Amino acid sequence: MHLYCHIPFCVRKCAYCGFYSVYAPAATVAGFPELLCREFSLRNPDGEVPRTWYLGGGTPTLLGAEGLTRMAELFAPFFPVVGLEEWTIEANPADCSSAVIDAALKVGVNRISVGVQSFDDRLLADMGRRHTASVSRDLLRRLQSAGLDNFGIDLITGFPGETDESWLYTLEQALECAPKHISVYALSVEPHTVLSYRIGKGLVATPDDDQVMNRLKIATIMLNEAGYRRYEISNYALPGYECRHNLAVWHGEDYLGLGPAAASRFGDRRWTNAPDLKKYGGALASGEIPPAQSDIRLTPEEDAVERTLFRFRLGEGLDLTAAAAAFPVLADRLRAWDKVLRKLSAHGITEPIPNGWRLTPRGFEVCDAVLAELS
Ligand code: SF4
Repeated sequence: MHLYCHIPFCVRKCAYCGFYSVYAPAATVAGFPELLCREFSLRNPDGEVPRTWYLGGGTPTLLGAEGLTRMAELFAPFFPVVGLEEWTIEANPADCSSAVIDAALKVGVNRISVGVQSFDDRLLADMGRRHTASVSRDLLRRLQSAGLDNFGIDLITGFPGETDESWLYTLEQALECAPKHISVYALSVEPHTVLSYRIGKGLVATPDDDQVMNRLKIATIMLNEAGYRRYEISNYALPGYECRHNLAVWHGEDYLGLGPAAASRFGDRRWTNAPDLKKYGGALASGEIPPAQSDIRLTPEEDAVERTLFRFRLGEGLDLTAAAAAFPVLADRLRAWDKVLRKLSAHGITEPIPNGWRLTPRGFEVCDAVLAELS
């Protein structure tokens, strides 16, 4: 199984962000690793050992050097934190001091994903980010000098005010920093955010779908030419540097999510913790499992569909023969999928692979519609 920890702290909210995070005093942040560890013991009584560990957020780097060291100390009795197949932390350039990097590498973190988002300072300011492009460049240089081989960056396209020129500049700068992994997300306007307020008031325009699609295409061309393989709709990596944790999730493996708002899929259950730090801490203080926002027990067929369908988000696609062997309950459905996917190939949306199908670049553009048709 794979372990995810949601670190739900942010100094302030970015204009577009729909993730659960809160501002909290230093003492609350310092005590948070204990809560995660308590939840881990309660959720994992059989002592399953994770293959990968991912600290996302929120802002994991707000834990600081002491918090990361504490995380490693607390979890070490449960599994070997040094030498995990992959241990990723998300880093905010605004909070990633050299002390944090040194502590992370010392305790066993072997992959860092940096929330760069853009190399355009005007856009970064409008997004409400606390860093500038030069802070990101400096952090990426420091990661290299610290000897970390496996680091990636996240970029967003489509924020109001972005131009084709600024997007090209961001991509060029990203390539110059030579990360091993680049995630490229199209902006999604989440409800109850500063951005949705600005759009609602007519202060800025909704992102133009065609423009965003065009910028994603430009990213695919430039990144492919630089040797990055698009292994998932929004993710590109140099060969061998794909994010193993996320790949495992997309491959349908079990993952346990700890922390408020964290999602889990374990056996035939899928649940999401309530996005409420107070209730989360209160429950764990009384030795109880934190309250869930949703908790669903899936039928064998629903479970198999969920573990299979995400393969279409991946460049590798779905091997129908392997899926039929792994999930006999899906036999009829896989035959029906085969027919639909064959039809879609006539429109350039799918293409055959040995024993199965994958989406083409055109297919990735309409992936949600394809998945809706299949599910
Ligand atoms: S730092 Fe990340 S999690 Fe925090 S508000 Fe900004 S986008 Fe959201």
